[in-house]
Amino acid sequence: MKKPPIIVFNVVLFTVLTLISVIGVPYWALTYGFNTFEIVTTVVLFFFTGMSITAGYHRLWSHKAYEANALVKFVLAVGGAMTLQNSILHWASDHRVHHRHVDVNDKDPYSAKRGFWFSHIGWMLREYQAERYTDYSNCRDLQKDKIVMWQHNYYVPIVLVSNIAITALLGYLNGSVLGMMLLAGICRIVLVHHVTFFINSLCHIWGKQPYTDCNTAKDNGILALFTFGEGYHNYHHIFEYDYRNGIKWWHYDPTKWVIKALSLIGWTKNLRKCPEDKIQQAKFAMQLQFAKEKLEHRYPNPEEVIAKLEAEYELLVAKCNEYYLSKKRLMRIQQRQLKRTVDSIDMHTKCEELKAAFQAQKMRFNSLASMPLQPV
Ligand SMILES: [Zn+2]
Ligand SMILES: [Zn+2]
Repeated sequence: MKKPPIIVFNVVLFTVLTLISVIGVPYWALTYGFNTFEIVTTVVLFFFTGMSITAGYHRLWSHKAYEANALVKFVLAVGGAMTLQNSILHWASDHRVHHRHVDVNDKDPYSAKRGFWFSHIGWMLREYQAERYTDYSNCRDLQKDKIVMWQHNYYVPIVLVSNIAITALLGYLNGSVLGMMLLAGICRIVLVHHVTFFINSLCHIWGKQPYTDCNTAKDNGILALFTFGEGYHNYHHIFEYDYRNGIKWWHYDPTKWVIKALSLIGWTKNLRKCPEDKIQQAKFAMQLQFAKEKLEHRYPNPEEVIAKLEAEYELLVAKCNEYYLSKKRLMRIQQRQLKRTVDSIDMHTKCEELKAAFQAQKMRFNSLASMPLQPV
């Protein structure tokens, strides 16, 4: 089959950025060296721009996993543009198609079933889906978002101004514009590119599938370290609207921590979470499947053991449902009780105030009524 035409701009861009990073940056390091300020700026911009993709492009705009105020959105829109991964609207549109048609080679824009190279970077080098390049019909909600549309309409100037102005200014203050642009500009862009591309490639290849095997997405704690927490990709593909990817408190998911921290000062809100019983039941279903596969391989006549296992599984699901249902009821009752307590405290305070006002008025009246009468 004939391959689609090459996207020359993308090929040249990736090649030039990569060559500068693997030749120019080491040459500069050996000839002039990089100082602490340049290294710290690079690390800060790496995390800021990388997490603008994971917290902004991905969890906020593609999945609507939480809401953010205009300032947070603006900062994430600029940080995301600094990574050169196209506009929010375009990125989110591709990503929604990825979730909807995951692993379907002719629909999923970066289908992992087409191999590591394709899902990592190859999909951007040829016009594989030219017909839907400007079709944003799956992002009508985002087309109503003023910040998304501002970033989409002025994408190129925002990319140039944010990348060049920030790094050049910091470089100027530090004494070397070129050194800063090489490390905190170009090398940082390349690093952020590949760690985010890993989510589409390695996170669909390497790891475990504790929640679903309906697609290739994997959970991998090691990859989470390099992808700002997005390594828990198996969980993400089944519960995509959850603002967390690593659901345990100790899972390395800095994106989740930033979103949560911002909610504490009111800058983000309505953080969505999948109910615990749904998560547990997805896990039980996978455990049952693994156990059945193991038994079928190891036992000559596994039917009896499998039947027993399935019966225990049914009981487990029933007990899980009962427990979480009663837990929800208990919480509702406690909330009602709490509200009643608050109401009764309010009522008590109000009653005390009215009592004081009544007594004061009684005194005023009594003092007036008991005044000796003056003859007219
Ligand atoms: Zn994926
Ligand atoms: Zn996603």
